[in-house]
Amino acid sequence: MFKFLKEKLKNTISRISKKVEDEAEEEVIEKPRPEEKRPEKEEEKIEEKKKPEVKIEKKKEVKEEKVEPEKKGFLGKIKEKVATKKISEAQFEELFWNLEVALLENNVAAEVIGKIKEDLKQELVEKPIRRMKIEKTIEESLKKSIGELFEAESFDMLEIIKQKKPFVKCFVGINGSGKTTTIAKIAHLLKEKGLSSVLAASDTFRAASIEQLQKHADSLGIKLIKHDYGSDPAAVAFDAIKHAESKNLDVVLIDTAGRMHANVNLMDEMKKIIRVAKPDLKVFVGESITGNDCVEQAKKFDEAVGIDAIILSKADVDEKGGAAVSVSYVTKKPIIYIGIGQEYKDLKEFDSELVIKNLGLAA
Ligand code: GDP
Repeated sequence: MFKFLKEKLKNTISRISKKVEDEAEEEVIEKPRPEEKRPEKEEEKIEEKKKPEVKIEKKKEVKEEKVEPEKKGFLGKIKEKVATKKISEAQFEELFWNLEVALLENNVAAEVIGKIKEDLKQELVEKPIRRMKIEKTIEESLKKSIGELFEAESFDMLEIIKQKKPFVKCFVGINGSGKTTTIAKIAHLLKEKGLSSVLAASDTFRAASIEQLQKHADSLGIKLIKHDYGSDPAAVAFDAIKHAESKNLDVVLIDTAGRMHANVNLMDEMKKIIRVAKPDLKVFVGESITGNDCVEQAKKFDEAVGIDAIILSKADVDEKGGAAVSVSYVTKKPIIYIGIGQEYKDLKEFDSELVIKNLGLAA
């Protein structure tokens, strides 16, 4: 994940840094060398006057940060000249455009781009930035800003499941997003952790959906509760919960039909499932590679039924990563897992630190 975005960020940051080095207004500020211990009494005599601003012609290299010690006053004073750069707001707007294009190309949502821009502006505009540290400063600001995209409160799914029996989990998302595969992966994970589950085939709409889920149930050795196609999906969920209660099972995993978020009838049907099953957790499954579409779908499902968490499937084939960077910030819901392949084991806990690392922004 993030192969493209990482490359783009790297190139853009270094292009921006170079431009700032070359074009931003330069200031030279003087400060005492930290290692120099001045005699106490002489301190007042030392002229702490700031040197006038030094404007350096475009592209002129300042080779040395430190200059020859200059003697002043009674004992003389050694000062260090620090060359800094300042970016004006107008320059920032121009520079950010490069980053904005890189983020847009990688499916990062407009809201997120707006946040990153505001954060960087706060950190960079009209602030003296030490020469040679411009790239680092931009990287640090970006790292902080992107880190804040994942502040939606997360939880340990395996822990909360143990708080209620049966724990009812309902999965929503559009067709083809990887919902059925993800449910099977979760059932597999639960089994590995010693937790029992039952599947509910509440997608009674899509052809072959019940057979697909039955195949997973058989492979995993767990029970599937199913009715006929076209029957009431809420009734299937209800029966699965009753089954779990009677068998003392830990978890009920409810599959739902892949509603296009614009399909009002199917959305209403899904609301009915939620009303009847009263799930403890509503998980939106979205396809990482669809970028902004995935974010929009998550928003719509949240508006319709109120999602609690997100699983992003197909992260293994997503080289951009825009959805992963955006969906949690836009919906204020945590990403709890990512799908990284087609096998049952290919489910990984989401780790925002890893996002920062994979974007090449970690220390
Ligand atoms: P549903 O229609 O939302 O239930 O989607 P499915 O579970 O049927 O998945 C659609 C396709 O995506 C299938 O071919 C899955 O094998 C594939 N798929 C699901 N999750 C992943 C994943 O994490 N990585 C990859 N590479 N493929 C996945």
